[in-house]
Amino acid sequence: CVTRIETIEGKVLAEQKPKREQVLDARIAYIVTDMLRDVIKGNGTAGHLNGRPGRPAAGKTGTSQNNKDAWFVGYTPNLVGLVYLGPDRGQKGLPAGAGALAAPVWATFMEKALVGVPPVDFTKPAGLVERAICDVTSLLATAVCPNHAEYFVAGTDPTVFCRVHRELHITICRKSGLPAGASCKDTEVRIFDAEHRPTGQCRRCSAWDNFWKWLTGKSDTKSDSGSGAGGGTGGGTGGGANDRDNQSQIGDDGPTGNDQNKERQQSPLRKLFSP
Ligand SMILES: [Zn+2]
Ligand SMILES: [Zn+2]
Repeated sequence: CVTRIETIEGKVLAEQKPKREQVLDARIAYIVTDMLRDVIKGNGTAGHLNGRPGRPAAGKTGTSQNNKDAWFVGYTPNLVGLVYLGPDRGQKGLPAGAGALAAPVWATFMEKALVGVPPVDFTKPAGLVERAICDVTSLLATAVCPNHAEYFVAGTDPTVFCRVHRELHITICRKSGLPAGASCKDTEVRIFDAEHRPTGQCRRCSAWDNFWKWLTGKSDTKSDSGSGAGGGTGGGTGGGANDRDNQSQIGDDGPTGNDQNKERQQSPLRKLFSP
């Protein structure tokens, strides 16, 4: 609130003793401040302040149509500053908006007003939780989402994970680098997002199994390999999602594999001699 209005010569025009009253939940205030801190950095509307005023601060620009008025209201934990720029009689607009004009005036004022005052950070109240949020969907981030941290009042934090960047645990054959089939022995589980999951399936290992079976008439692997279904061990489930015991896949509707059965119709011999 306004405590004193004085002229540039120091003549006091009005004075008021402040009465304090808390009007906002401290947790909400902290979250709003956390958002408004982004205004003066990076891609914020006053982002070109570029670290000014050199201490923890938050603020908000305000620009009216055609840049007629430009506001910036900003604060540190111990000082609030407000800048208004505009014509005395509403003729023409300013040459730029509030971020470019009012914010630097505010920053200059704050820097001078706080000379000698040690920087302090905003105090985080109890009862907040920090969550990684997907930049794209604003849902809880999976391990593969582009994400940023956000605060929530405990109990109001999102519980649903992003479904665009789904974390897929796919068993990969180390020999071929492709999703493993039942014949692959040297495998590891790797994590992919749904959009960049590998397609197809290792044929190299099953080719030897099939060749062995073709030679001897018996299989030396599990019965689901080379069962005469024309290769593609795992039945074309795609994405390596067969039933090997080290196979796991998070997400209840993972790749269906309907688009990945190109190799399915090949005989063991063709598989053996194809590259
Ligand atoms: Zn995501
Ligand atoms: Zn393999």
